[in-house]
Amino acid sequence: MLDIAPIAAFSDNYIWLLRNPGGRIAAVVDPGDEAPVLAYLAREGLQLGAILVTHHHADHTGGVHELLAAHPGIPVFGPAGERIPGISRPLREGDRVRLEGIDAEFTVWDVPGHTAGHIAYYGAGALFCGDTLFAAGCGRVFGGTLRDLHASLQRIAALPTDTLLFCAHEYTLDNLGFAQWVEPDNRELSRREADERARRDRGEPTVPSVLGLELATNPFLRVGREEVRRAAERHAGRSLPTDQEVFAVVRTWKDREYD
Ligand code: ZN
Ligand code: FE
Repeated sequence: MLDIAPIAAFSDNYIWLLRNPGGRIAAVVDPGDEAPVLAYLAREGLQLGAILVTHHHADHTGGVHELLAAHPGIPVFGPAGERIPGISRPLREGDRVRLEGIDAEFTVWDVPGHTAGHIAYYGAGALFCGDTLFAAGCGRVFGGTLRDLHASLQRIAALPTDTLLFCAHEYTLDNLGFAQWVEPDNRELSRREADERARRDRGEPTVPSVLGLELATNPFLRVGREEVRRAAERHAGRSLPTDQEVFAVVRTWKDREYD
């Protein structure tokens, strides 16, 4: 069992820190900023052993250079398909990642969509999915395509329902607002919104989320459901015979009218 903790960065990023329970060696995922990571390591008396990166955006990579300078020689894992300075261990679909001093092994998944070369790390019942899937939402399409993103999310949806999803942003309440535009009658959604709001009021993160809950409340994982298809068709003013078309309409609907 791994100990996984969020390090808050910028206004709404999470940098995930992994270690064995009580372990002294840590790895971080998507360090967009070095300062909160260095402070956390110092406070907890930890040594940084590895950096994992999911995609090239600055809010996920901006701290790599300084962390490497402070911890020379540690491996930096990241997508082979994106140009990211500092990466020493380029990864592709199916590669395995073992981290020194941390008892877990991760399998690399290509999850294009948010960016064309985005990867995720799957292992120990957890998926580190960067900006691909968010709690109750998903990433915007920047470098990849809507078709890619839909396929990546479908793949995530097929994982065991107790998989913990470690995304990189605290967007949950905002995403739940849009989810209720799509499915105003989904009772799970209103329940979830109350739970997550209480969590935020206590100052707690709403992530990781669990796949089972996402399948019940995340419109981007629910494009095969009749309710979601009907809402998308109403919005688009035409019939949408495939899940892919429903997905594209829901994603663009949110982009253009919600945020
Ligand atoms: Zn991003
Ligand atoms: Fe991001």
